[in-house]
Amino acid sequence: MSEFDPAAYLPDDLLERIRERAPIHDRENTFPQQDLDELRDAGYLSILVPAERGGAGLGLAEAALLQQRLAGAAPATALAINMHLVWTGVAKVFSDRGVPGLEFVQDGAVAGEVFAFGISEGGNDLVLFGSDTAAEPTGDDGYSFTGTKIFTSLAPVWTKLGLHGLDTTSDDAPKLVFAFVDRTAAVETGDDWDTLGMRATQSRTTRLKGAVADAAHVVRRIDPGPTPDPIVFGIFSVFEILLASVYTGIARRALDLAVLTAQKRTSKRTGLAYAQDPDIRWRIADMALSYDALPPQIAALARDVDESADHGARWFSLLSGVKHRAITTAKHVVDQAMLTAGGGSYFSSNELSRLYRDVLAGAFHPSDPESAHATAASAWLGPIEA
Ligand SMILES: Cc1cc2nc3c(=O)[nH]c(=O)nc-3n(C[C@H](O)[C@H](O)[C@H](O)COP(=O)(O)OP(=O)(O)OC[C@H]3O[C@@H](n4cnc5c(N)ncnc54)[C@H](O)[C@@H]3O)c2cc1C
Repeated sequence: MSEFDPAAYLPDDLLERIRERAPIHDRENTFPQQDLDELRDAGYLSILVPAERGGAGLGLAEAALLQQRLAGAAPATALAINMHLVWTGVAKVFSDRGVPGLEFVQDGAVAGEVFAFGISEGGNDLVLFGSDTAAEPTGDDGYSFTGTKIFTSLAPVWTKLGLHGLDTTSDDAPKLVFAFVDRTAAVETGDDWDTLGMRATQSRTTRLKGAVADAAHVVRRIDPGPTPDPIVFGIFSVFEILLASVYTGIARRALDLAVLTAQKRTSKRTGLAYAQDPDIRWRIADMALSYDALPPQIAALARDVDESADHGARWFSLLSGVKHRAITTAKHVVDQAMLTAGGGSYFSSNELSRLYRDVLAGAFHPSDPESAHATAASAWLGPIEA
């Protein structure tokens, strides 16, 4: 790990171009197509694909570092790309453990396909463990999906949508079906993304009207509810760690900006830079103390996923915990950065004001604060008695 050089995969000049475009896409509420094109050209879409299949062969630990770096330049670009990286990360979890079925994701990523994450549905707080989308068998081991997915990041550009739906008609029903569909006439993308922050993710509503996945793209049929199936562990582990990485990257950027402004602003009262002011120094220290806990924990858990370590039942509380800690810490750090930077940070043109809006999205992604607390409480106290 110590030899890993993030700049080899995300060069400084590329990062600077992405950083410059971020406020434009935020203001204009547009998808960062150029970011995607440049990242694709740099091989970023296949960082998690094994080298023998044509990818960079990185582990989740390295991808997590890269996502922190990308989020520091453009949080919404990083969050959107995260969804693609999640599927390639799940494919890596499968191949590392000898589970077949997601090789097409690895080959597709190398070929330039963009994978979106079609899991969220309005009012479905079962998330991975249930679905209101109908999955109907086509008779040849394929499935046809009908339903509505919300918040589909990468909406204008994805080429393959990984999703789940509920099969209620097969002999062994109910079964939760995980599959990938193409962008066909049976998939409608809304134009309904106008949000407070993370505007460039363009996470629009997706309407599935009999979208078909052929047998080769039906990945898993599992019982609804919590199961130890690799698709559940794969999605849960990669999603929580990469999401924590995005918000950790935001925290780091906010800390860096706060340090810069503390060095630049001077006090009329003392004639000294605010960096010499004990209260500001305490505030920066508080941000640093909070931030410093995040990268090591992300690195340790990501390495454990890479090395197939076994945390048993503790896995889920560790993973939802790292995500929860990252998003609450990032929110706190951005808050402190705003106070350190002063009133200038309240202007829309100030990067901190965008980070302030972007960081709020963190609480809405799974595991939300309620489910992270429920998972942690069950890990330490056991389940609630009926
Ligand atoms: C920036 C961002 C990007 C995201 N990207 C993705 C992604 O790429 N893929 C993905 O799968 N998820 C994505 N998510 C979704 C996210 O993980 C949550 O699922 C989402 O925020 C919904 O949260 P919620 O359930 O608290 O919202 P809620 O407010 O409960 O629901 C969201 C919407 O669903 C509708 N709704 C709510 N309850 C019901 C009901 N009972 N019946 C019918 N409709 C209802 C309402 O219209 C409501 O506005 C993203 C979220 C954010 C903030």
